[in-house]
Amino acid sequence: MTTTRFAPSPTGLLHLGHAYAALFAANRAGQKGRFLVRLEDIDQTRSRAEYEENIFTDLAWLGLSWEKPVLRQSDHLSYYQSGLDKLHQLEVLYPCFCTRREIQQEISSAGQAPHGPDGPLYPGTCRELNKAERELRLRAGVSHALRLDVQRASSLVNAQLFWNDRIHGHFVANPGIYGDVVLARKDAAIGYHLAVVMDDARQGVSLVTRGVDLLQATHLHRLLIELLQLPVPEWEHHALIVDDHGKRLAKRDDARSLKSMREQGWSAEQLRSKLGFE
Ligand code: GLU
Repeated sequence: MTTTRFAPSPTGLLHLGHAYAALFAANRAGQKGRFLVRLEDIDQTRSRAEYEENIFTDLAWLGLSWEKPVLRQSDHLSYYQSGLDKLHQLEVLYPCFCTRREIQQEISSAGQAPHGPDGPLYPGTCRELNKAERELRLRAGVSHALRLDVQRASSLVNAQLFWNDRIHGHFVANPGIYGDVVLARKDAAIGYHLAVVMDDARQGVSLVTRGVDLLQATHLHRLLIELLQLPVPEWEHHALIVDDHGKRLAKRDDARSLKSMREQGWSAEQLRSKLGFE
């Protein structure tokens, strides 16, 4: 039995790309599998109740049904904290006090920096802080993010890690691709990468479907799964729906929202068939 999920963030109206992702996930679960919806709303500054409601309206309009209750990430912060605690015990996290500007300055003074999927990699400034200095700043209450010491974390894993994507094939994990990535942000108790891995595990998601824009993230997720000793799912990173100019759709582009398409008279059948689903 396959369990899949559609995991939107309620930070805007859903568009065609979301419809494709949701239909894709539900299709992979099939009649016999489980299809879940999860609200990824840990960014409380951008999440809105009205967008949340709209997600359910859109999905029901598309003809989808999903298991209830729906998991809302902001209701489970202590669960994510337990993941951070485990990583602390493994000594693979460190507090990072740097501001964005300090990181930029450090990178430009170095003249060059290795790049990852989200831009230049963090130069590791706070990883090098000595214990006394770190304690001093923590005690003074300086705000900080938590970063993964990816080299140390990788060295704890004895075997080489692999993962499988149903479309793109078999990968040897390259978890260092994001460098020392932030797992808990200064302004939010938890970040996307750790939350998604922990939620997929506890919800029993056996096939993670999502856009190919997140394929690289899976290299890191595979390491997090290993560190937290979670079950390893399969992945399927599907193509993204683009606009007439080949540009990826964005939530701020309200004119292309499902809501406005509905208001313009599109039927769910027409929309499903435009996206290649029955
Ligand atoms: N919340 C993510 C998004 O809206 C989905 C991430 C995922 O499916 O892993 O892009």
